[in-house]
Amino acid sequence: MKMKVLGLLLSSLFLNLTAQNIQNNPGSNHGNKFEQLGTILPTPNVYRTASGAPGDQYWQNRADYDISAYLDEDKRNLKGSETITYHNNSPDNLDYLWLQLDENQQSNVKNADFQYSSTIPSVTTTERLRPTELPAQDNGYGVNIEKVTDASGKPLHFTVNKTMMRIDLPKVLKKGETIVFKIDWNYNIPNRMEKGGRGGYEYFPEDGNDLYTMTQWYPRMCVYSDFHGWQNYQFTGRGEFALNFGNFKVQMNVPADHIVGSTGVCKNYAEVLTPEQLARYHKAENASEPIEIVTLDEARKAEKSKSKQRKTWVFEASDVRDFAWTSSRKFVWDGMKVLIPENNNKVMAMSFYGKEAYGLYRKFSTKAVAHTIKTYSEFTIPYPYPVAQSVEAANGMEYPMICFNYGRTEKDGTYSEAIKNGMIGVVIHEVGHNFFPMIINSDERQWTWMDEGLNTFVEYLTEEKWDNKFPSKRGPAWTIVDYMKLPKDELEPIMTNSENIERFGPNAYSKPATGLNILRETIMGRELFDKAFKTYAQRWAFKHPEPADFFRTMEDASGEDLDWFWRGWFYGTDPVDISIDKVTTATPDFDGTPKSRQITYTVDKPDTPDFDDISKIRNREDKNITFLTDTDKNLQDFYYRYDRSEEKVDTVKKYTISNEPMEKATAKDISKLKNITAYQIDFSNKGGMVMPIILEFTFEDGSKLRDRIGAQIWRHNENKVSKAYYFDKKLKSVQLDPMLETADIDTSNNYWSASGSHETAMSKFQVFKEKEGKNVRGGANGKVNPMQAAEKK
Ligand SMILES: [Zn+2]
Repeated sequence: MKMKVLGLLLSSLFLNLTAQNIQNNPGSNHGNKFEQLGTILPTPNVYRTASGAPGDQYWQNRADYDISAYLDEDKRNLKGSETITYHNNSPDNLDYLWLQLDENQQSNVKNADFQYSSTIPSVTTTERLRPTELPAQDNGYGVNIEKVTDASGKPLHFTVNKTMMRIDLPKVLKKGETIVFKIDWNYNIPNRMEKGGRGGYEYFPEDGNDLYTMTQWYPRMCVYSDFHGWQNYQFTGRGEFALNFGNFKVQMNVPADHIVGSTGVCKNYAEVLTPEQLARYHKAENASEPIEIVTLDEARKAEKSKSKQRKTWVFEASDVRDFAWTSSRKFVWDGMKVLIPENNNKVMAMSFYGKEAYGLYRKFSTKAVAHTIKTYSEFTIPYPYPVAQSVEAANGMEYPMICFNYGRTEKDGTYSEAIKNGMIGVVIHEVGHNFFPMIINSDERQWTWMDEGLNTFVEYLTEEKWDNKFPSKRGPAWTIVDYMKLPKDELEPIMTNSENIERFGPNAYSKPATGLNILRETIMGRELFDKAFKTYAQRWAFKHPEPADFFRTMEDASGEDLDWFWRGWFYGTDPVDISIDKVTTATPDFDGTPKSRQITYTVDKPDTPDFDDISKIRNREDKNITFLTDTDKNLQDFYYRYDRSEEKVDTVKKYTISNEPMEKATAKDISKLKNITAYQIDFSNKGGMVMPIILEFTFEDGSKLRDRIGAQIWRHNENKVSKAYYFDKKLKSVQLDPMLETADIDTSNNYWSASGSHETAMSKFQVFKEKEGKNVRGGANGKVNPMQAAEKK
């Protein structure tokens, strides 16, 4: 019986409180901002665990490549022949294989035809105004598949669907089996500067030479995975790539006066370099400052003529997901050694650039490469590859061990601060992609944020470590504010497929990077965040992570429930706009008459329902069920006997419990507390995205205090919360988010000043003393610490 009374008391208290909350906030609704992501995330399984780690039966398929390429500079054509060894490590039988023919994106008849809507412009140019040709005439670009055969040379049936090619296997490829097949192809290399795209040539009219960037240049295996089956979404030029790990051996036959930079390690420098260049290369291998392997003078000289001879460069790379290279006679080439302390890896950092970029690249490129792989190694995993390279090619695009960047000087070698910072930023960004997605190998075709967002975040940390005053444009919370201010119909969730994203840069780069920075600096703190982020990198290095693996690992390794953050920042579009609506002030009044606050509840009738529910009726009808109240059954089987006849049911209808007996405060109490002023700050969530509330109090005596309230304060009411503070000095002003760390889009409602228009009349609150030993709510736990939660600045 005692238990029952207490239960009633508790539930009536709870009802009281709930009713009070609703009354205080009319019209407020409790949404789902703090609910678990639950079914939004895929169900964990033996391949991917609920902790976010790879499961004990995790698998991934593998593709090894042996490729010969012939670069015809006169025809601007690339001819290739490849042998692919594909390993089916999946538990599934494969009837066919899918490969990517990315170069078909450059063809106007073989491309994926993902068009954008268009309107007649009010102003245009004669260059742009061309008659529409329907049907489109073949522009001659795209992959020409010459043949597809098995290892013995027997043709294999294949079908090209725009940028994807399916090879039908004569016999099913079973679990654990390997297939070897060959593809010969060629394509006309497009002028990248005119046609756009990641690979092609750039022509330099001043000296008449080309700079080739050979990317997505060979038919590449699609990824077959536990979470997606074949990833064969079309390539439109936007959503990047999903690729398997494998080993590569590539031979590039190029004009003899070209210099080749490539993914992997060159196996025949002795055959392709002059003895002087080879000696300089070996010197650079141990140098702590960049050394020119091909000098500016040599590059200038090479530009003046075109060799009719040919040379073959041979490169090999292990455990890479892709392979890219560059070739030109314009290149200056420098290199130096970088030691990665975490794994004692001696890396050759190198740069390739024309005279047009010499003034910037000679000074900064290789050093930025070295700084990047060192810094990323601290925050993720130690850089595992033997080389890391930056190539100046007037763009920004990443591949394993090699990337293409921009940053050219004026003719006289000078450059602006903006160009310099842009160049350093792009080198850090593209080199950083070695980690995301080249090693932590996410599916870029589906999720752009998983590589661009994570990479942009570590890029920010790396820029910061390069130069504490580096003008980073992505990462700090305040830099995302203009984007988050946009009307809702211009915003999409970060969790949006790459092809469907409007405002690609802010959505896929800045917003996720900013979110991670807010998690690190404001929500989790550096220690918890860094460990969790590193755990994600370690768990998924050389594997294929999915968003849930990231979300789960960040929580699993930190002990922070971040579902509210993923829900709001990654799945939602709401901005942060927290407002200080009102500050109410009050001083203690010790003079009132003591009284006991009473809690009363009424029981109008016994708590037995008027009707029996169907389950009770059916239980009674079921003769196989024994009830405790059945005295004639085998009651000895029960350890406890419930006998209704023993019960004295209390039929009194009304209970009154006096739970807070109080008396007048003593002179000693009053002398200690008389200077207290209470401040109640009312906040509203105008933006929608919940966030921690960070307050800076400035007092009349000039001193300051800061308080940081976790976002969970919003969990009972997502729209309005209040917080009461008791200070023994007068508050002059309150500033919300003083360091601009939450990306609050409207800071005009983040400030209150005692002398400002927000001031409200001072009221009183009565203070009595609790009668000792009679506090029903239980001593110290029921009391409020007047200086609660305030931290010293
Ligand atoms: Zn990028």
